[in-house]
Amino acid sequence: AATGGPSTARQVKLDKECELRVEVGPDTPLRLRLLTGNAEIFGTEIPPEIWVTFPPRLKFAVFTWYGATIEMDGTTETDYTADETPMISYVNVHAVLEGRRNRAKALPSDSDSSQGPRVIVVGPTDSGKSTLSRMLLSWAAKQGWKPTFVDLDIGQGSITIPGCIAATPIEMPIDSVEGIPLEMPLVYFYGHTTPSVNADLYKVLVKELAQTLERQFAGNAESRAAGMVINTMGWIEGVGYELLLNAIETFNATVVLVLGQEKLCSMLKDVLRNKPNVDVVKLQKSGGVVSRSAKARQKARSYRIREYFYGLANDLSPHSNVANFSDLTVYRIGGGPQAPRSALPIGAEPAADPSRLVPVNINRDLLHLVLAVSFAKEPEQIISSNVAGFIYITDIDIQRFEICTLAHIEVSSAV
Ligand code: ADP
Repeated sequence: AATGGPSTARQVKLDKECELRVEVGPDTPLRLRLLTGNAEIFGTEIPPEIWVTFPPRLKFAVFTWYGATIEMDGTTETDYTADETPMISYVNVHAVLEGRRNRAKALPSDSDSSQGPRVIVVGPTDSGKSTLSRMLLSWAAKQGWKPTFVDLDIGQGSITIPGCIAATPIEMPIDSVEGIPLEMPLVYFYGHTTPSVNADLYKVLVKELAQTLERQFAGNAESRAAGMVINTMGWIEGVGYELLLNAIETFNATVVLVLGQEKLCSMLKDVLRNKPNVDVVKLQKSGGVVSRSAKARQKARSYRIREYFYGLANDLSPHSNVANFSDLTVYRIGGGPQAPRSALPIGAEPAADPSRLVPVNINRDLLHLVLAVSFAKEPEQIISSNVAGFIYITDIDIQRFEICTLAHIEVSSAV
């Protein structure tokens, strides 16, 4: 290499059904290309010969069904080859889903059975839920379907910034570097990264999202037959478990894929035993899934927000705006008790109304906050409205009543 050190380029030969697991180093990107054979990254094929650049910290696996040679250039945190993976069981699930999509497509679009599979992926944090969702979507898209991806994970969602639940059609295998395309997502803003802060609001938003998708499916036989893949949070105990059941029911899931947890699987089988049209399937967790500490997850959230405004490679320039205080009205959802204690009968506790709207005064407390821009025309519509995008408050000038923001607004529309 130019620096005089050893060249970092190296080749890796992969046998059939093996994968190369890579964690890109913390500071510099890694380049990789496919020299011979076929290989895929989480369900998306790698084009032959072309160098692909992976950003720092990305964790991924290059899997081959029939064998491949890979060339890598750059430093990694780790890279190793594994010959034990659960990929066969995952692709078998795909094959079953494929059969159901074909069956749904063959039926008249007004019949109930014209609905393709609605798959929900559940399991503890770091069990590979997002990764499995991604593979199932990419494999389906490769075969020409346009499945809908629903991400209910407000902590580490992959459609938009943290704190949201969202859905988007997947029309092409998901890009290994860019991730889920941010073209026309349907986004609802929850505003926190744990559902326990306001579990009722979380449920309200899940219901809104499900109803909107239901309406869209009613008029679109193609996406109806393709079905959905729903990714969930890693919180599977207590309220988390309750929210999982709620999501299974609200979305009318027909396939529940449980990753890496016997107990959760048997609990779900038990509560869903009266629903013959719901299959609960246990799947093995991949040994390649990388566990992240709470701190790492927090960091990932900040990167995600940064990426939203500035792009993966710092290539977006968000609009920088100066607005007057009077141009914006800011609301918080579900804050504080409904009525003052003095207004309640003696002994009664004021209940926090999860969907109460609280007008927020514009002052320096808003500095560095991310706000969602709602499509709502009236304040009462805020909870049931999807959002257009987000703004980040970079400065507040109290003297001049001015707010400086960075804005990134999607092209999606009100529903
Ligand atoms: P969950 O959604 O259950 O929290 P993820 O699917 O996000 O888990 O996986 C956690 C991390 O592990 C991600 O960074 C993902 O890219 C990585 N990962 C998953 N499977 C593999 C694998 N087979 N090899 C290498 N990294 C993997």
